[in-house]
Amino acid sequence: MTILIRTLKTLIVVAIFSSHSYAQGTWGQKFEQMGTMLPTPNTYRTASGAPGREYWQQKADYDISVTLNDNNQSVTGEETITYHNQSPDQLKYLWLQLDQNMRAKDSNTPLVSSSSMPDTISGKSLQQRITKDQDFDGGFKIASVKTVDGKAIPYTINKTMMRVDLPQPLKSGAEVSFKVAWSYTINDRMQLGGRSGYEYFPKDGNYLYTIAQWFPRMAVYDDVNGWQNKQFLGSGEFALAFGDYTVRITTAADHVVASTGVLQNPKEVLTATQLERLERAKKSFDKPVIIISQEEAIQNEKSRAKGTKTWVYKADNVRDFAFVSSRKFIWDAQAVKFENNTPLAMSFYPKEGNPLWEKESTKAVVNTLKTYSKYTIDYPYPVAQSIHTASIGMEYPMICFNFGRPNPDGTYSQRTLEGMVGVIVHEVGHNYFPMIINNDERQWAWMDEGINTFLEHQTVVENYPGFNTTWGTPAGVINYMKGEKNDLRPIMTNPENGRSLGYEAYGKPSAGLVLLRETVMGPELFDAAFKEYAQRWAFKHPSPADFFRTMEDASAVDLDWFWKGWFYSVDACDIAVDKVTWYKMNIDAKGFENQVKVSGDGTLGGDDTPVENGLAAPKPFTMANTKSSEYGEFKNSVDDKAIQKRNAEKNFYEVTFKNEGGLMMPIIIEWSYADGTKEVEKIPAEIWRLNEQQVTKVFAKDKQVIGIKLDPKNEIPDIQQSNNVYPRVDSKTRFDKFKDGSN
Ligand SMILES: [Zn+2]
Repeated sequence: MTILIRTLKTLIVVAIFSSHSYAQGTWGQKFEQMGTMLPTPNTYRTASGAPGREYWQQKADYDISVTLNDNNQSVTGEETITYHNQSPDQLKYLWLQLDQNMRAKDSNTPLVSSSSMPDTISGKSLQQRITKDQDFDGGFKIASVKTVDGKAIPYTINKTMMRVDLPQPLKSGAEVSFKVAWSYTINDRMQLGGRSGYEYFPKDGNYLYTIAQWFPRMAVYDDVNGWQNKQFLGSGEFALAFGDYTVRITTAADHVVASTGVLQNPKEVLTATQLERLERAKKSFDKPVIIISQEEAIQNEKSRAKGTKTWVYKADNVRDFAFVSSRKFIWDAQAVKFENNTPLAMSFYPKEGNPLWEKESTKAVVNTLKTYSKYTIDYPYPVAQSIHTASIGMEYPMICFNFGRPNPDGTYSQRTLEGMVGVIVHEVGHNYFPMIINNDERQWAWMDEGINTFLEHQTVVENYPGFNTTWGTPAGVINYMKGEKNDLRPIMTNPENGRSLGYEAYGKPSAGLVLLRETVMGPELFDAAFKEYAQRWAFKHPSPADFFRTMEDASAVDLDWFWKGWFYSVDACDIAVDKVTWYKMNIDAKGFENQVKVSGDGTLGGDDTPVENGLAAPKPFTMANTKSSEYGEFKNSVDDKAIQKRNAEKNFYEVTFKNEGGLMMPIIIEWSYADGTKEVEKIPAEIWRLNEQQVTKVFAKDKQVIGIKLDPKNEIPDIQQSNNVYPRVDSKTRFDKFKDGSN
């Protein structure tokens, strides 16, 4: 019986001093730990989010000779892949990615994309969305797969994946070298779209090639997936192993090439003047040096040299390799100083990109390297290059393709400028995510796109005052989060299954990181944890759990509720301030003079109805003397008289908040006082842990409150702002009032 009474007492105490409304709604366990939602930690990946003591990853080195044929727009290559099996497992076969087979005749990509027939459709859309690449075969033609001494190795092609059956199983710790020879026809990017391809310039008859996914590449074998051999359909990008590359690119003798890596034979392919300018650029830290001027590029694009030239590049510790080639390139370069590295920021663009590109491109590369380095690690590669590429933005190690073309007369709008700077920052930023912090893009697009969009936003904010910086912030996802829940997909969705990848992989994860940095954790804790993640996983393969765990491990902020809500659910945020009741102490006659002075028109004992210029009049409450049984031996430490005196003048506001969207978020309250001042108070999201639908909390204020507004600076993507204010602003117009007779 004692137990029963004690339980009853406890319940009563809780009911009085905690939230009133325990019973309402269902409990979604939103503040419980993620538990089995995350993979069990092991010796490869620890519970702290760091690589474990037995962490391993594979290495794939490439030695490639490739010819780009400017006469028939094709690529022909031969590669020797040396695959280092650093896994604890023996491998009977290897998987390679044949990404160009997305453009093969038997590709699944056009088959699995749904479409509908509109009344009117542009030719380009008809070709890209309905007939697809029907008349074009851009798939890989594999000529041979051989051992280094020329014996054929059996292989099987399954769409965009190729299994190579090794002559002997590859033991743990061993390496194998083998050769693949191939060719393919390059797609016209302007006609058929694509990350890779060419743009043809009919006025001068030249091609600008941006060549990527152009060689059979090793798939990733790791402790998370085994072989990541999920087919490439087009949305889920790439999972790639680090390795060292030597690549010999043979192209038209009068083409200029830019590539992943460092040029090994500059004296053979550059003029003496170009070489001298390039040397100067290596010491130019304040502005770019022009290596090929616009006049020189215009001269060059008029020529048609016979024969070819071979450009040799080396790149160490990269996960991929891309290059560009054209007669049309203007080229500028500038050095960037880091403690142990002085990379060159470079841009290549045709005259069609000017005057915008000469002014802005390399500058944007420099700004990106400096800002990203601050938040992650110093840029470790020797170059970072921005290539003008109509219509797309696409990233590769040390080189990326970026849109932003002025009008034919050279004029451009602010929108074009902001778009061009934004895409350059974004694509150069991809050098970090996923090129260095190397996530599996095929499975988790947000890990590179979302994290990168966050730092893109940060870079634009810090370097480009006046630019529109809503994209990637909470305010930028409000309209998306208002959408029908059935049409939304959580961030933790494979990109091929995404409904609105721009938000699911880019905008929403970025907004989530902005929220964490600005609102939930604060910049100091966030920046340190974020940097820790970058440092731990640079040149390694992180998974989502490694990110989630590291952010908590390095900050002591429990964010499981945030990952569950923001990354795993499609819940929206809609916090309402539902009811506010003003109380003042009703002083009884026992020794205290009546100190209650109610300003405004309020008198003690008013009702709940908000009045025109503020809250309803205060209600009285009585402070009783603390019963001695409640504090037992600590009796002497409580001085009821002093407590009463301290609080006699105070205004007590009992506020009820409703969470109508289901997403757990902090409550940011802006109090407006009768004296015209304001105060912002931030309640951590954990206020919702006992009741996820509704909480009531009492605030003691010296000043009299006339109104409350939630989230005054739009830090939280609240999809319904009208219930963020109290007293409610009457949304009825005078006409409505007249019509319904309420005027
Ligand atoms: Zn991107």
